[in-house]
Amino acid sequence: MLASLMPPSPIVPTVAFDKDGVQHGFLRLPYSRDDSAWGSVMIPIAVIRNGSGPTALLTGGNHGDEYEGPIALFDLARTLDPRDVSGTIIIVPAMNYPAFRAGTRTSPIDKGNLNRSFPGRPDGTVTQKIADYFTRELLPRADIVLDFHSGGKTLDFVPFAAAHILADKTQEARAFEAVKAFSAPWSMRMLEIDAVGMYDTTAEEMGKIFVTTELGGGGTARAETVAIAKRGVMNVLHHSGIVSGKVEHRETRWLDMPSGDCFAFAEDEGMIETMTDLGDPVTKGQIIARIHPVGRTGAAPAEIRAKMDGILAARHFPGLVKPGDCVAVAGVVE
Ligand SMILES: [Zn+2]
Repeated sequence: MLASLMPPSPIVPTVAFDKDGVQHGFLRLPYSRDDSAWGSVMIPIAVIRNGSGPTALLTGGNHGDEYEGPIALFDLARTLDPRDVSGTIIIVPAMNYPAFRAGTRTSPIDKGNLNRSFPGRPDGTVTQKIADYFTRELLPRADIVLDFHSGGKTLDFVPFAAAHILADKTQEARAFEAVKAFSAPWSMRMLEIDAVGMYDTTAEEMGKIFVTTELGGGGTARAETVAIAKRGVMNVLHHSGIVSGKVEHRETRWLDMPSGDCFAFAEDEGMIETMTDLGDPVTKGQIIARIHPVGRTGAAPAEIRAKMDGILAARHFPGLVKPGDCVAVAGVVE
């Protein structure tokens, strides 16, 4: 559908985006259902504004089982003093709020994967309506967008901030400067295996500076990765000229994903034996995991080998795998 022919979003914000101070409110999304006939999904949002200046859009919970972003952003919304702000910070700690409340990657309402639902539809499913609101109402306000991800219940990552290789090299350079400012232990030049429908792609096509992260995983968060998230968001806001004061930059090491050979997928079902831990060096041909058949004793395991030299940047988290699961991702150290 042409954007000009689209009906307005059904989502109603209870905050004003041009009002100074701190506002805690909701994006109210009408959702009629058995337990609430004229009910709504109430997506928490905070707006912290102090005069004119750039706007940052900070998001977590794009996938509902990733926690560093929501922890850092609920905390930031509660603690940031608007006197330290020049401009506007829009914080949505749990974008796909139904998924976040269910603790699942996708929405329990419509099974929507928000990060495959962009640009969205105002007359679509609940997840498509959320995507549409970000596309048409929130992203246009933003100068810089920081969207937190982690591995969720099925993946675990070395902690990194990332941006994508873009056709517009000025936009790309500014995104990588913001990634560097985030100063996670690792910084990634990221390749997507499935970029259609992503929030990232929609924001980048609008010319926005877009930074994402993968900060851990396993359906939880660790003290170390939460500290990286809290430090990183302040660093990016400081880098953007939106917050003043002291920030703590740390050394970061750059990783590259030069091709699809970074990814290893299971072709067998079974129990995975990790042979290499996250962050460890891997060499081309090295066995990085084995998949043991579990139906009987005496059967040989399938071997997963690294297809390039680098480090193990991500791994499958649960102990059982099935064909098609992403079991390992290598990153090339620059
Ligand atoms: Zn995610």
